[in-house]
Amino acid sequence: MILNPPPWPGGAKCAVAYTFDMDADSILHLHHHETADTKVAAMSALRYGPEVAVPRILQLYKEFDMRQTFFLPAWCMERYPAAVEQILEGGHEVAHHHYLHENPNSLSAEEERYWFERSMEVIKTMTGHPPRGYRAATYRFSRNTLDILLDHGIQYDASLFGDDIPYVLRNERGELIELPSHYGLDDWPHYQFSRDFSTTMPIKSTAYASEVFREEFDAAWEYGGLWVSVWHPFLSGRLARAAAIKNLIRYMHDKGDVWFATLEEIAGHIRTLIEEGTWSPRVDNLPYYEGPIPELGTGEPKNAE
Ligand SMILES: [Zn+2]
Repeated sequence: MILNPPPWPGGAKCAVAYTFDMDADSILHLHHHETADTKVAAMSALRYGPEVAVPRILQLYKEFDMRQTFFLPAWCMERYPAAVEQILEGGHEVAHHHYLHENPNSLSAEEERYWFERSMEVIKTMTGHPPRGYRAATYRFSRNTLDILLDHGIQYDASLFGDDIPYVLRNERGELIELPSHYGLDDWPHYQFSRDFSTTMPIKSTAYASEVFREEFDAAWEYGGLWVSVWHPFLSGRLARAAAIKNLIRYMHDKGDVWFATLEEIAGHIRTLIEEGTWSPRVDNLPYYEGPIPELGTGEPKNAE
């Protein structure tokens, strides 16, 4: 099913990374700048992430002796330093997730670079070193993002969906490792209900969500793939959902031959394979297009959504 799966350390059948994006209330300020301070209930739901869920998730990881990756908007790091301290104390990885969760697709190249660099400084100050990895806010990797990542020595990106295993993103200036995921491993479609964000889909049970996540894991295990969850503490750290995570980790352990790793470790492993010449990844060359395709002429087609 996967034509060229990479060899995983220790002969593991697949690589697994539980990643959490601790967006906290950054997204509320971004979407409702003028009125966020009045939305106390929405704020409380988002603050649940750093205040309650992160310590719970860290405790869970401790029980299983796991070290994992957290994507932290730098503003959230400044706002919730205790959560950052606990994450670092547990030996987990802190990766770049913007300053205030700004959307690169709506920024100029200069604006995107400004916020990126401002975040880099916060991460360096609070963790002692620059981040190795990056995930675009709500996956909105722009046509300028790769240049910015390369300019700052970022070793991997975890924003895209282009494969079931790690691959290489390349442009004329350089390359880095892409560690893809997809919406099937995101908790937002199952658990996010908020009138303030106009997300009012029916909430799913943990049994349903876990089945989706577990099916993806079983397939990765069967065919040598990469399983990267994209979860949020304020959603998946809620009590019943955290218990479901515990069950899923246990299921993976019971199945065996699973490499649990941070994304930094997975990217490092892939880089070593490439340098040793023992495995060659697929390469995506960016940009996919230089601009709007010419076939449609100028302007939007009449049936554009
Ligand atoms: Zn996020």
